[in-house]
Amino acid sequence: MTFSDLGLAPGLLAAVAEKGYTDPTPIQKAAIPAVLAGRDVLAGAQTGTGKTASFVLPILQRLGSHAPQGPRALILTPTRELAAQVEESVRHYGRNTNLRSVVIFGGVSERPQIAALRSGCDLLVATPGRLQDLAQQKAFTLDHVQVFVLDEADRMLDMGFIHAIKRIRALLPKQRQNLMFSATYSDDIRRLAENLLHNPQSVEVNPPNRTADKVEQVSYRLPKEHKRHLLAHLINEGNWHQVLVFTRTKHGANRLADQLTRAGIPSSPIHGNKSQNARVRALEDFKANRIVALVATEVAARGIDIKELPYVVNYELPNVPEDYVHRIGRTARAGSTGKAVSLVSPDEAPYLKDIVKLLGKDVPAQPLPAFDIKAEASAPAQEHQPRSEGARPHGSRPQGGRHHGGRQDSSRRHSSQPRSESRAAAPRPQQGRAGDVSRAAPASAASAGRRSPPPWAKRGRG
Ligand code: AMP
Repeated sequence: MTFSDLGLAPGLLAAVAEKGYTDPTPIQKAAIPAVLAGRDVLAGAQTGTGKTASFVLPILQRLGSHAPQGPRALILTPTRELAAQVEESVRHYGRNTNLRSVVIFGGVSERPQIAALRSGCDLLVATPGRLQDLAQQKAFTLDHVQVFVLDEADRMLDMGFIHAIKRIRALLPKQRQNLMFSATYSDDIRRLAENLLHNPQSVEVNPPNRTADKVEQVSYRLPKEHKRHLLAHLINEGNWHQVLVFTRTKHGANRLADQLTRAGIPSSPIHGNKSQNARVRALEDFKANRIVALVATEVAARGIDIKELPYVVNYELPNVPEDYVHRIGRTARAGSTGKAVSLVSPDEAPYLKDIVKLLGKDVPAQPLPAFDIKAEASAPAQEHQPRSEGARPHGSRPQGGRHHGGRQDSSRRHSSQPRSESRAAAPRPQQGRAGDVSRAAPASAASAGRRSPPPWAKRGRG
């Protein structure tokens, strides 16, 4: 089946072709005809399945051409990043139409958003908070909405938007088409769907377990305080790039990004306490391969559109097992597999048990490789002290784990690995202070030379 078999107009087909997509994904095959037919849709699909195009394309077709009365399609997303990405898709797929789209979200000035709304809007992409603020100010009317989309509905509920959704729904005309996308189904989601959707067509393309099956999943069991050393070792030894690392707290994300950077692995945190600009910059650096690791909290990572991601690391396990499935779904790539690595400390054993139960299969524990545990690095007070000895030349970083220079006296080896392993046989010199390095030279200079760019960087995405 091709896109033209789905009944899409030539202008939309041309925009799809420009993206280089030849075949519709399963969610697109199922949802596009249903939306074109005016049906309500309940779709079980997570990021990476092509769900955005599955509602954007048919909505564009249904709206046809620009009309002055105000938004006729409203797309609600849980996060700013997702809102921005969805609107970017709307703009791309709608490039051969005269339809106008506007995106509104919090954390940035309202004024340009109000001006954009006033200058004409057919499709409005919004996060709930800002939508309500601007609706109260009568910056627009929702009286003409014909299609209402709840994207990532499960995350909306997780983020406490249920009342906002109800209030927004009350502003919409009774007669409309409703589309709801959710990666997981809880009782709350089912209740919401029952209240919102009329005789919906259900489309289930990616039951969590199936996605999880495509991803190679391993775990390492180790004490909490050794995790960052193992992570640095895995990244260096495997020459990993584009590593999405999940922590449970914003503070933890900051600290780990800092520690990794100082261990020679350029990293940035991304979470809700960061300004919109900082988040966008971190994401761009990640996509352009200027940083190696993006350290994210669950919620911040949720809206990020990054595909073909080779590695996801659960630095800390989520306490909600469905979140694990969301996280590792990041690595799901068409026709390929990704790797999800979980670092599990003894206190997290119950979380792992719940995850294994949900998956219906084990997340096999790997033997711990030998890795450096730098004694001085665990003393936070010293972490920002400049050090002159043992540092690599500024602007360099260890190549694929082959560390240069430095001393070995203050390093110790993690000892649970059989000493017969070749890498374990030779004690490793201690790494230099890469924090100094990355401050002295841009992360891109430190990493770009050695690491091959990801597929999406080559295609100029981001
Ligand atoms: P989404 O699930 O909407 O976040 O989409 C995941 C990624 O798949 C996005 O980067 C899309 O650009 C891409 N994509 C969407 N549809 C297709 C398709 N038919 N073929 C290949 N890639 C696609």
